[in-house]
Amino acid sequence: AEKTASMLQVQETQCPYCSVQCKMKVSEVAAPVTGERRAEYVVEGVPNNASQGRLCVKGMNAHQHALSKERLLHPLIRRNGELVTSSWHEVIQFISERFSHLQESYGADTLGVYGGGSLTNETAYLLGKFARVGLGTRYIDYNGRFCMSAAASAGSKVFGMDRGLTFRLSDIPLARCIVLAGTNIAECQPTLLPYFNEAKENGAFIIVIDPRKTATAGIADLHLQIKPGMDALLADIMMKLIIDAGAVDHQFIGDRTHGFEQLQQELAEMDLVEAAAKCGIELEQIRQAALAYGEADTAMVMTARGVEQQTDGHMAVRHFLNLVLATGNIGKPGCGYGAITGQGNGQGGREHGQKADQLPGYRSIENEQDRAYVASVWGVDPASLPGKGVSAYEMMELVHDQKIRGLFVMGSNPVVSNPNVRLVEEGLRKLDFLVVADMFLSDTARMADVVLPVTAYLENEGTLTNLEGRVLLREQGIPAPGEALHDWDILCRIAVEMGKASYFQFQSAEEIFNELREASRGGVADYYGITYERLRLEKGIYWPCPSVETTGEGLVFAERFAHVDGRASFTAETSPGWNEVSREFPLILTNGRVLPHYLTGVQTHRSPTLEARELENFVELHPTTASRHRIRDGEWVEVQSVYGSFTVRSRVKEHIREDTLFVPMHWGGIQNVNRATRPELDPYCRMPGFKTAAVTIRPLRLV
Ligand code: SF4
Repeated sequence: AEKTASMLQVQETQCPYCSVQCKMKVSEVAAPVTGERRAEYVVEGVPNNASQGRLCVKGMNAHQHALSKERLLHPLIRRNGELVTSSWHEVIQFISERFSHLQESYGADTLGVYGGGSLTNETAYLLGKFARVGLGTRYIDYNGRFCMSAAASAGSKVFGMDRGLTFRLSDIPLARCIVLAGTNIAECQPTLLPYFNEAKENGAFIIVIDPRKTATAGIADLHLQIKPGMDALLADIMMKLIIDAGAVDHQFIGDRTHGFEQLQQELAEMDLVEAAAKCGIELEQIRQAALAYGEADTAMVMTARGVEQQTDGHMAVRHFLNLVLATGNIGKPGCGYGAITGQGNGQGGREHGQKADQLPGYRSIENEQDRAYVASVWGVDPASLPGKGVSAYEMMELVHDQKIRGLFVMGSNPVVSNPNVRLVEEGLRKLDFLVVADMFLSDTARMADVVLPVTAYLENEGTLTNLEGRVLLREQGIPAPGEALHDWDILCRIAVEMGKASYFQFQSAEEIFNELREASRGGVADYYGITYERLRLEKGIYWPCPSVETTGEGLVFAERFAHVDGRASFTAETSPGWNEVSREFPLILTNGRVLPHYLTGVQTHRSPTLEARELENFVELHPTTASRHRIRDGEWVEVQSVYGSFTVRSRVKEHIREDTLFVPMHWGGIQNVNRATRPELDPYCRMPGFKTAAVTIRPLRLV
């Protein structure tokens, strides 16, 4: 067919990447040349309340990976060491036989299921049911463990409910002071930046807490260039300064909280000068931040992975929440706390049961009533539901110890995203059977015995919940390429083959969503009142939404918190922070993201436009550090910790602390930062300490 300028196809969809979930229209404006799948596309933002029609470079180019020639089009099976094309009939039968054989030989818990925070709500829900009912194993967890677990567990503990933002995005311009702690919105959620610029125009004072002068720090009125690992202590210093200045809201504290007196006592003896020195920040700068926040009429605190991906991440978030509660800055317009979720369905992905300890609706797998309720929805005996499993990295340890011998991975690339990669690689090689469902031959899929091709965002239907708790429907626009199947369809086929047909009779994502609504009913994350029909009409509904007659509320905790007594709780226990550098490993390795890439890059590395912006990984280091270690800008270097090493190019920049190295997280192989990250876990939420590892650095040249 000849190329034509006429509009051939229009699809309204939703960006597959970050947690803002911008709506967009993808239009095919030129037909594919005969025999090729490629055509020309125009991508435009569609106004929705989340991003107001804005798109960033990732969203503008997301279709490139969906239309990539590297897409997997057929199931693959390993024969004589090679992955070769197979049929769905053969691979489903093979998976069923191998899983059954392993369970007969080693018990039900010899299988593990590893999910992802980019899966739709329907798939996340079904994956939990697949593990517990389809396979009968306790071992299921997902990559969101590395993303939201610290903020989620802190929110649950302090407020009684974990919803990423306690406010609407559109409320941000109403805040007169905003604390952005460990979040680089300008690169990670770029379409949110105009909200903060608008707040600034309205007179807001913006404080950014980050070891680097990021693009986000560029809009700050005050940048606190913190030493990695000291966030909880910094929040404590701010808290004490606010108390000392008399800027607390006694009425709010008395009416809505408990535990403030213990916190006050705990902080009474704090040596502020010494504490500020530990944080690597001038005390006067912290005082300026504390007073700006404490004295503002309306104020917000937001945290992200910089605060949360620590071995005290849960506590660090709780210490920032102390600031919110002490000043009464929550439950009213222009105020609140927000955890800036990373993954596209980082919020919904953690609500429906793909976590080790959780059943749909945020129910606990250890609570008898919760188990009984979900079992009744699923039509099974509560006693047949397995108990609590372990977190994502701990599953990798069980794989390494051969306690888990068969692993099913969907929507994740654990061999790149876990800390201490050497152990993970060794473990995956020891597996008796590894199945990976993905769009591409990811680093993990390359190690698999069976690879299952799945549909991309343009080709499937389902709901995703953005960072403000707004549930959005993404509809299918184009057919799946080759033999790729929807994730949920694959789960149903395996479960049916394994004799669990009666529990997995779903013909569409909507049917799964309707069961999810029932399963979440009455839970903390109640979706019962949300239907596909409503989502089409209303373009997004906030949870909790317990009835089809009610609209969900964007602003939560206006009158009471979600604990039974309606009160929120302060945190008095302090955290020592992290400081384990040594003569041998004198620098602090921290990781993060860059604008054009998403997670481990499985999708964005397949987008030529995005890949061209950042072709390879790098380490950012201060000129003084570079000179001390005889490193020139742009040369290959090795970064080493006690766990391992990786090789990247150097980028010498003034804007990072002298004691810190920064490396993005989007590359595998020898450039993978996680070859050097450490596997210690937060005791409360099992988050690994990605943001702090003691390392050394050396140039890779003959000297
Ligand atoms: Fe929007 Fe995030 Fe996608 Fe960018 S990556 S277009 S900010 S959803």
